[in-house]
Amino acid sequence: MIRYDYDKSVAVVTGGSSGIGLATVRLLLENGARVAFCARNAARLNDVAALLRRDFGADRVLTGAFSVLDKAAVTAFAEQVRDTFGRCDLLVNNAGQGRISTFETTTDDDWRAEFELKLFSQVLPVRAFLPMLREAQGAVVAVNSLLAYQPEPHMVCTSAARAGVQNLLKSLSVELAPDVRVNAVLLGLIGSGQWTRRFAEREDQSVSRAEWYAALAEKKGIPLARLGEAEDAAHAIAFLGSRAASYVTGAQLEVSGGLSRHI
Ligand code: NDP
Repeated sequence: MIRYDYDKSVAVVTGGSSGIGLATVRLLLENGARVAFCARNAARLNDVAALLRRDFGADRVLTGAFSVLDKAAVTAFAEQVRDTFGRCDLLVNNAGQGRISTFETTTDDDWRAEFELKLFSQVLPVRAFLPMLREAQGAVVAVNSLLAYQPEPHMVCTSAARAGVQNLLKSLSVELAPDVRVNAVLLGLIGSGQWTRRFAEREDQSVSRAEWYAALAEKKGIPLARLGEAEDAAHAIAFLGSRAASYVTGAQLEVSGGLSRHI
């Protein structure tokens, strides 16, 4: 197993009850961290937390059921993390989802909602956890998308918002240095939440997940010829958040199977 040194560390993962967030929570726990994570759906969050507490110990897992867009809840969670764990070494801003719409089908409200989700899912957690991150000389890892550099017309507002997020992260990496490192992972197609949902809506229900994913990888021309796994993204996040990346800030690491076409 690849080891990262998270002993004595505390990590916070937004959107930790599913997909990439959950894989990240698990990987960080396996590597010695205590982990706090949030999501909106309390039932799913509690189910996931019960399994993790069984596997890793109740005192290493803390959860909060709220939206990352709820400023008061995010602030209260930061206080709870301080009260419970006393510190925060790593903030993983992962919560969210993409929006499929072209310019013609995107309403003004859609644009506002998408920009609020993408930007404030970074702004609010960073602001709330910043004092602890500074004290710990910690790190922020943002989960972003290749769409930031390679926009897709069928995801027009998500692409534009993701470019804005990259811009914000670059500024943060300068303003928060040398105390806090700020990096991003740029995802291509990862076979977690968003693609699981699209698989469930496939036209031909007789096609298996493996077949559907393989056809999708071929259609998209992914050089490594498969969709990524949630764990592929989690490893990139764990690396960027770890002391092994202590001289890396303001960077983006692509996890796309080579799908990226920019240099
Ligand atoms: P999942 O749907 O599997 O997981 C998303 C997680 O975020 C869930 O725990 C969800 O729980 C939580 N979440 C969503 N919105 C909020 C919110 N407002 N506040 C708090 N928690 C929230 O998605 P993935 O693992 O596939 O994706 C993770 C991230 O990576 C997302 O931001 C996504 O946009 C991004 N991404 C994914 C790609 C992919 O191919 N999978 C590609 C590019 C980017 P709940 O619904 O209960 O709140």
